[in-house]
Amino acid sequence: MTRQDFLKKAGLGLAAVGIYGNAPGQPGTVEKYKKMITQENSYEIVVVGGSYSGLSAAMALGRSLRKTLIIDSGLPCNRQTPHSHNFITHDGRKPADIAHDAKQQVLAYPTVKAISDRVVEVTGEDHNFTIQVATGNSYNAKKLLFATGVKDIMPAIDGFAACWGITILHCPYCHGYEVRGKNTGILVNDESAMEFAKLIRHWTDQVTVFTNGKAKFNKDELKDLGVPIEEKAIANIKQANGFISAIQFTDGSTISLDALYHRPAFEQHCEIPVTMGCEMTETGHIKVNESQQTTLPGIYASGDCTTRMRAVSVSVAQGSVAGSMLNHELISGS
Ligand SMILES: Cc1cc2nc3c(=O)[nH]c(=O)nc-3n(C[C@H](O)[C@H](O)[C@H](O)COP(=O)(O)OP(=O)(O)OC[C@H]3O[C@@H](n4cnc5c(N)ncnc54)[C@H](O)[C@@H]3O)c2cc1C
Repeated sequence: MTRQDFLKKAGLGLAAVGIYGNAPGQPGTVEKYKKMITQENSYEIVVVGGSYSGLSAAMALGRSLRKTLIIDSGLPCNRQTPHSHNFITHDGRKPADIAHDAKQQVLAYPTVKAISDRVVEVTGEDHNFTIQVATGNSYNAKKLLFATGVKDIMPAIDGFAACWGITILHCPYCHGYEVRGKNTGILVNDESAMEFAKLIRHWTDQVTVFTNGKAKFNKDELKDLGVPIEEKAIANIKQANGFISAIQFTDGSTISLDALYHRPAFEQHCEIPVTMGCEMTETGHIKVNESQQTTLPGIYASGDCTTRMRAVSVSVAQGSVAGSMLNHELISGS
């Protein structure tokens, strides 16, 4: 899509711009929203998941005068990470502080409301969704956005979960700079081992690949690269307060480490889009088009639940696209 097409589709093209963005021939937007706002529990858009992506979408929606409800269960995937990196203007901040500031800014828009709760069921269809939350209330919405993220599945290794996001890392762009030059391991046992090792070697030349059992890939390339491979079964991670010091094997031996990379398996944090029938990709993400629209009418998705590119900046960008496209969809009456 060209930038021109995008702006046009988002209702920002010159022809579509009216006061408050209402399309030519439609009733005054302000009057319409004054009326809607008085209808309790009835919203134009319900955003399920109020972390970076959901809040970013809600900002675009609030600025578009849309009556929006954000419902969030408060479990973002990066909650154990002390510092978030690689998002300009917020580099090195606590993840919760970034989300807190975002929420404050979003809630300054009077058509946006947020509640802490977990969505347990969604029924209905485009223009008439019913959203049920765990505490018993239900809400009505014309459109839905799922910005519900993913859940990382920790390997069953004692000490691993305690280090997750602190010294056991998923992404060198987020945390590699902080452990540059350090004694680093990679826990991997598939064909991606070579590509993973090459990537991490950019930040440190002290790299060991741990397979936790017999290697299931050709080891020759890694050997040629000079990266040692340790195939012993892992018993536990030695750590204190999330800071790894060594990997201990089932034979009792240990190898010292400062950091360990791992790409864990994941599942959708919220299964509702799947149960509603949204098409999924081969990688287990919600299938969306360039407007963040799922394959079901009136349902959008953004952030980690839709992409392998897991970064705050990407989630925020996708949320912003979803918000403007939802507004456009409502303007166009579809
Ligand atoms: C350990 C770790 C460290 C990371 N570090 C960095 C970093 O330094 N820099 C960086 O750019 N990126 C980092 N990332 C990636 C970044 O955290 C994610 O890309 C980002 O959090 C995705 O945002 P999101 O809004 O899509 O999902 P999330 O932030 O995961 O939020 C999803 C939200 O949806 C809510 N939710 C789910 N289901 C429901 C439901 N049924 N009802 C209501 N609410 C629901 C959850 O409670 C949660 O609040 C890190 C990720 C991990 C795992």
